[in-house]
Amino acid sequence: MKKILQDLSFEELENLIESSGEKKFRARQVYTALMQGKKISGMNVPLELRQKLLQEYEDEPVRIIKTLTSSDGTEKYLFALADGNIIEGVLMKHDYGFSQCVSTQVGCRMGCKFCASTLGGLVRNLTSGEILSQVLAVNALHSDKRGKAVTKVVLMGSGEPLDNYGNTVKFLKNVSAPDGINISPRSISLSTCGIVPKIYELADEGLDVNLTVSLHQTTDEGRARTMPIAKKYTILEILKACDYYFKKTGRRYIFEYTLIAGENCGSEHAEQLVRLLKGRCCHINLIRLNEVEERRLKSAGDRRAYEFCARLEKGGLSATVRRRLGTDIGGACGQLRASYIKGEE
Ligand code: SAH
Repeated sequence: MKKILQDLSFEELENLIESSGEKKFRARQVYTALMQGKKISGMNVPLELRQKLLQEYEDEPVRIIKTLTSSDGTEKYLFALADGNIIEGVLMKHDYGFSQCVSTQVGCRMGCKFCASTLGGLVRNLTSGEILSQVLAVNALHSDKRGKAVTKVVLMGSGEPLDNYGNTVKFLKNVSAPDGINISPRSISLSTCGIVPKIYELADEGLDVNLTVSLHQTTDEGRARTMPIAKKYTILEILKACDYYFKKTGRRYIFEYTLIAGENCGSEHAEQLVRLLKGRCCHINLIRLNEVEERRLKSAGDRRAYEFCARLEKGGLSATVRRRLGTDIGGACGQLRASYIKGEE
């Protein structure tokens, strides 16, 4: 595989262009074109420069090969990477803007029992430029002359962002660069299954993105039944790390809690959650499970979800049931990719 130009920050690109004997201003031209989602071959720069870049760099590291549009406007994409791997992403259209969900790895090795992304294990990490190119491609598809279409980015697609730490942090820096596509860190949410030491590291980066942690249970034993990572880090260790994140960034953190029938949504679980989280500067996002064909877990149903939410609120917590979008175009996290790969075989 060739190298990926979108991996570079503007300064790195400037060094590359200058050291290859080109005029410095070409760097800005190339960077602007990249941020508009252009291919190298389609850039408005001299042919010789394009050819030079194409010898070493991928023309189009991430290509949309399929788009599905839901009746509610949500779009799902299949992207092909230069090495033929497939990843997926989603664009949710809200009144306040377009929110894109990106993948950070091909597959995942965290092994959560409810998740389709991890069914085939981890294939490989994405580079920062491959994560960024997902945003650039979707943005180019939607942006009108007045500017960008994607206003919010969530790292909730396939993969565990903190298991691909270096590339994820570089992506966060590049996607929020003011002279680039300029998505504010406050409009970016990183979701993790709870890799505790990396939460501390992220807090110290000074990036100030929103931290979201997949909790899904109220006890370590219960959590370990569906999330293998719970054998490594306890809920208390996660809470301490989140409090540190809040202290360093001033950002309220969010817990994702996927409601699974018979597993985690009884009244005792609501009480335990209240005990665990009361007084903390956090919010709980209740997710209705997207049932995955290969897994036996069942969704808890709408009524249970709203009852559970009411119990948390009564206990003094801030909680909401996450809206369901794009349900008619198939599933969550990795389901689209899984069915595509199956179809190919
Ligand atoms: N690895 C990260 C980010 C990717 S998953 C993490 O674990 O947070 C994004 C969110 O979707 C997580 O909260 C995850 O637990 C949840 N999720 C995964 N599969 C799901 C499913 N089938 N139904 C509902 N939520 C799911």
